[in-house]
Amino acid sequence: MRHTRSHTANRRSHHALKSPELAVCKNCGGNHRPHHMCLDCGFYNGKMVLDLAAKKSEREARMNAKREAIRAQAGDTTPAPVEVK
Ligand SMILES: [Zn+2]
Repeated sequence: MRHTRSHTANRRSHHALKSPELAVCKNCGGNHRPHHMCLDCGFYNGKMVLDLAAKKSEREARMNAKREAIRAQAGDTTPAPVEVK
C-alpha cells in the first residue's frame, strides 16, 4: 500500500546513525571503545594485555623475511628498497 511522503519521512526520522561512544585510554590518552582493549597501545584497565609493539616488530620481521625469500628466488642481488611509511 502506498504511503504519503510525510509517512515515509516520519518513519525514517529514526534512521539517523549515532556516533560511537568512546572512552579515553589511561595509558596513551587515545580513544578506544569502552570495555575494550586500546587498539593503539594494547592496554586495558591500566594493564598491558597485548604487546602491540612486539607484535608489530614481529610482523615487520616476518614480512622482511618473506620479501628476502621472494627476491632470492627471483635472483635479484640489488639491496632491498627502504620502505617509506
Ligand atoms: Zn592506549
